[in-house]
Amino acid sequence: MVKPITIVGGGLAGLTLGIGLRQCGVPVTLHEAGSYPRHRVCGEFISGRGQATLARLGLRELFDQAGAVSARTTAFFSATKSTAPRPLPAAAICLARYTLDAALVKKFRELGGELFEGRRVPAENVGEGIVRATGRRAQAEQGGSRWFGLKIHARNVPLAADLEMHVSAQGYVGLCRINGGEVNICGLFRKRADESSEGSTWRELLRGQPGSPLRERLAGAEFDENSFCAVAGLSLRPQSAAARTEICVGDAITMIPPVTGNGMSMAFESAELAIAPITAWSRGETSWSEARQKIASDCDAAFARRLVWAKWLQRLILTPALQNPLVALAARSDRFRRMAFERTR
Ligand SMILES: Cc1cc2nc3c(=O)[nH]c(=O)nc-3n(C[C@H](O)[C@H](O)[C@H](O)COP(=O)(O)OP(=O)(O)OC[C@H]3O[C@@H](n4cnc5c(N)ncnc54)[C@H](O)[C@@H]3O)c2cc1C
Repeated sequence: MVKPITIVGGGLAGLTLGIGLRQCGVPVTLHEAGSYPRHRVCGEFISGRGQATLARLGLRELFDQAGAVSARTTAFFSATKSTAPRPLPAAAICLARYTLDAALVKKFRELGGELFEGRRVPAENVGEGIVRATGRRAQAEQGGSRWFGLKIHARNVPLAADLEMHVSAQGYVGLCRINGGEVNICGLFRKRADESSEGSTWRELLRGQPGSPLRERLAGAEFDENSFCAVAGLSLRPQSAAARTEICVGDAITMIPPVTGNGMSMAFESAELAIAPITAWSRGETSWSEARQKIASDCDAAFARRLVWAKWLQRLILTPALQNPLVALAARSDRFRRMAFERTR
């Protein structure tokens, strides 16, 4: 006899956990508030240990078949400084979330998982047998700032490197090549909480200030308007999994500052860490509470250090007075770039 599991939230963490549990023979029902396929605000740049998780779960091949592009080089730009393209310490995988999420859904269903789309489960539905994979917890403002993300795909964007990072006083914009010959343009921005909601349009924000390297890069861009999406209310303060009273995976535990390009990896990794304890519960070998504690302590051990580094790195990168010196340092020092990359993964 195996007990069934319900997963609330069909993003990367929920779908990966669902796939992993089905591979272990656990009956899984997944409830997703939205529907597929859909565009998501995301840099669509998968880097770090989550790639090994994908290989172990047999999902790497799935992404390759879906047209994933390998990113091997990066370059940084501020208003007046830039780095030459340099090799990334480890290659990343770039794939549109539109394609990626749909590929995971197909796999989950092929494995016999039951998926209900358009079903928002009330927050109070918690308890034994229910896993929360509902993504970030919305927070209107943090430390006097409101954070929001924008993303759009485009063609005809000539990149100097597979991943370009452009920083400005408003935030940053990352550009990377994805499947289908498109470039993903994704930015994280902040506004003072007391600033009016009028002001720059999303186009202006994503295209950069006149005269900036970003504006130049996107001069001839043909935007795919259907891919545009936005998200607000981001909370970037690190949280620990042990503080949660439920089993949580992915951003439902905590959101790593997006500038690191590691949130998707954490979604895959946390899902993988949850598979064995939940399977043991399903088979009656452990209690729900023991499973929860094991998953939380393994997630905290895996993520605590990178969350601290990510918090500081993002704070430095988004301090306007430091942007030119940081890009100049990144241009000079392989060691600095490698350290920033490795410590946040
Ligand atoms: C601007 C920006 C750029 C980013 N760039 C990158 C990047 O380049 N690389 C990277 O690795 N990460 C990046 N990330 C982070 C990454 O997108 C997330 O970490 C990742 O999507 C988290 O996956 P998740 O499954 O935990 O949550 P989500 O993908 O948010 O999925 C949660 C799902 O739960 C559903 N849901 C929520 N509540 C309910 C409910 N009550 N009932 C049913 N369903 C519900 C939602 O509809 C959603 O589909 C970026 C994030 C932002 C904001």
